[in-house]
Amino acid sequence: SKPDTSKDTVNAIISLPSDHRNELGLQQRSVKTDEERGEKRKRNAGVVQKPLLRFMKRHLSVTQLCEQTWCELKLEYGIRNPQIRKTDKRRTEIQTGASIHLARELEVHSVIPIDTKTREDSFGIRILNVLHMIPILEAGQCVREFPVFGVLEGVNIMGVIDELSYNQKGELVLNELKTRRHDSLPGDAQALGHSFQVGLYKLLFDGLIRGEVRREHIVNNFTLRPSQVLGSEVQAHALRIGINVVTFGELVDTFLMVLSCTEVPCIDLLQMEYRHQDSNSLIGTRVVPFDEAQLRSDLRGYLAYWTGQREPRGVDIEDAWKCTMCPYSEICDWRKNSSQAPETLHTNKRIK
Ligand code: SF4
Repeated sequence: SKPDTSKDTVNAIISLPSDHRNELGLQQRSVKTDEERGEKRKRNAGVVQKPLLRFMKRHLSVTQLCEQTWCELKLEYGIRNPQIRKTDKRRTEIQTGASIHLARELEVHSVIPIDTKTREDSFGIRILNVLHMIPILEAGQCVREFPVFGVLEGVNIMGVIDELSYNQKGELVLNELKTRRHDSLPGDAQALGHSFQVGLYKLLFDGLIRGEVRREHIVNNFTLRPSQVLGSEVQAHALRIGINVVTFGELVDTFLMVLSCTEVPCIDLLQMEYRHQDSNSLIGTRVVPFDEAQLRSDLRGYLAYWTGQREPRGVDIEDAWKCTMCPYSEICDWRKNSSQAPETLHTNKRIK
């Protein structure tokens, strides 16, 4: 068997003490047919996952793909040079943003640390968090930090949605909070990454609740062992939210059963919310249009880098201002080459 590589502590989500929504009521659920769902379920049968050539990763995160829209080379330098990454001036801003996110998350539920000993434990907590939040969404209430995962364009992708809630029209709205040091809306370059990020979340979320994720995707693509007995803390947490499982495979089966009969709709609206870090005042909100064909085309362009089909690219010439705030500018070959031969940058078109 594989060595345990995920000895860690992962946060599991539970409802606030005053809230009694934590009954999954699995025995009362009936599996909905495709007709009842009102749409034909798409099946991604036969998807074969190759490990990503670059960095031998099992999956990509939505955050990494979002960073890639800023500068692909910066992303790669960050992975190869974690010691420089730690000196990025933006880290303080990122950490402050994380604290604000956590405070907001705790408004709707509690988090409890769970000891995980295997990769199956870690992934199991992710699944349990989804299972816990589905009934809350079905009850028309708000959830935060909703995990999503799936296979997009042949690659495993994982992420966490900031917030899902319903508006007055009854539409399911994804709200992504961004906190900003400056009291102003982001420019086009940042907004591009944000739009890409929420678009990917929608693809992953809709795929989950449409039942497009299958057992073999989870087990084979993420190389997880169905027979692996879940850690005692994970089993205890599952019981706490009404799920009696022993192995990872049993948990996956429960997960897929719940997804097959959920009443939760696809996401109707994508929205960005920008807040000022110091004052926590609202800077503004932006509705993000969703164009699946364009999004998938952009994604394929970015994935070509991860699957080793091409080398990483630096910024376009019109975006050279990004280099002035980049922690890797001293070591960046792209920047060095561009100062010697600026015309090389002119040939670098944005990945579309
Ligand atoms: Fe990208 Fe510019 Fe940084 Fe190089 S210096 S990694 S091109 S942002």
